[in-house]
Amino acid sequence: MKTSIAVCGTGIAGLACALALARRGQQALLLGPRPTLRPADPETYHPRVYAISLASQRLLASLGAWDLMPPARLARVEAMEIRGDAGGRLNLSAWQSAQQELAWIVESGEIERALIQACQVMGIPWVAEKFSSLDHGVLVTDHGTRIEADLMIAADGAQSSLRAAAGLAADVRPYGVTGLVAHFTCALPHQGVALQWFRADGVLALLPMPDTRDGPQVSMVWSIKEPLANELLAMAPEALAAELALRLAGATEGRLGALTLRSPLHGFALTLSQTPMIGPRIALVGDAAHRLHPLAGQGLNLGLGDVQALAEIIGTREPFRSAGDPLVLRRYRRARAEPVLAMRLVTDGLQRLFDVQATPVAWLRNIGLDLVERLPFVKRQLIDGASR
Ligand SMILES: Cc1cc2nc3c(=O)[nH]c(=O)nc-3n(C[C@H](O)[C@H](O)[C@H](O)COP(=O)(O)OP(=O)(O)OC[C@H]3O[C@@H](n4cnc5c(N)ncnc54)[C@H](O)[C@@H]3O)c2cc1C
Repeated sequence: MKTSIAVCGTGIAGLACALALARRGQQALLLGPRPTLRPADPETYHPRVYAISLASQRLLASLGAWDLMPPARLARVEAMEIRGDAGGRLNLSAWQSAQQELAWIVESGEIERALIQACQVMGIPWVAEKFSSLDHGVLVTDHGTRIEADLMIAADGAQSSLRAAAGLAADVRPYGVTGLVAHFTCALPHQGVALQWFRADGVLALLPMPDTRDGPQVSMVWSIKEPLANELLAMAPEALAAELALRLAGATEGRLGALTLRSPLHGFALTLSQTPMIGPRIALVGDAAHRLHPLAGQGLNLGLGDVQALAEIIGTREPFRSAGDPLVLRRYRRARAEPVLAMRLVTDGLQRLFDVQATPVAWLRNIGLDLVERLPFVKRQLIDGASR
């Protein structure tokens, strides 16, 4: 089988990448398993939800996917409240920047469903097999199918097999921290506010979700040290619900009233990783290219930024260059260097800053939050950054 571009990986980054390329008139093929999507149920929410930035929303809209998602499953983030561990506090709100929202909270399953539909509409060829090896530059699947492409795009996630087969090293640093995610019914309305607590024992976020029959709902992302996370993940459902209710009541100081667990608890090992982004006839996008601490909710947004840049650079290349031309790939690496580094520095820096227990550091980081709170110009910059 021959194609101009083969996109390996059928998560959100891979699906969006194939679509963005096809929309620019490129011949792109998808290689990867078809995600198994549960039918949408009004009272059950996909365990993974993402804070989708306005830039990602615009990209998904331009790919024809945003409007395919039911509005009832989307939640606006109208404001953010960030609290430090010694009284520091920062409030950001969309109206301060004359915007309707800072970001959207969307379930992973809904984005995938919409992207798959859009791929079907565009008639993108899909080889529903797994990449297995490279044979003299030809992609070979676990079913023995051989795919020859001018450009191979690795969108097959943090453990990318294509990246490894191409001999591209990933510099991986485990944080020793697990990201716990679960949904809760809360006693008080969240009013579209994303809440975040930077605490000495980890970073806790409660993201606004659509209301349910039981009441208002939030999604938790709680990054804590592995031993405690493992203890919680091993608990029986009833004991876990009671333990989480107690711990969250303390951590949130009752900000949303009682929190009742309404989903299973999932844990994700958190790592920081970086890669060269490109290799001979190969480009990396999404988690295959980089991984971040989720405290800023930006991993997928960064991956969608890769997709947008790569599709644009490939779509506007000189007619005599192939999609895998080294110069085209270097343009992509250059375009992504700054945004990837900036996001890495911010998320890793914040994680380290709040990991330090020493009192002067704790005092300083809280003063920092308070200071930003009192500087309207800096605040506006932050709001614009958060919603970009
Ligand atoms: C706790 C937590 C919270 C987060 N919250 C946010 C947030 O709020 N906002 C945000 O922007 N980001 C967030 N992130 C980051 C986000 O989860 C990732 O950046 C995103 O899921 C990466 O998508 P991807 O498509 O690159 O990779 P993946 O989702 O890992 O998809 C990889 C795909 O490749 C396929 N694949 C694997 N192996 C092969 C193979 N051999 N052949 C073919 N296909 C293969 C898989 O089936 C899968 O479909 C969070 C992460 C964590 C851990």
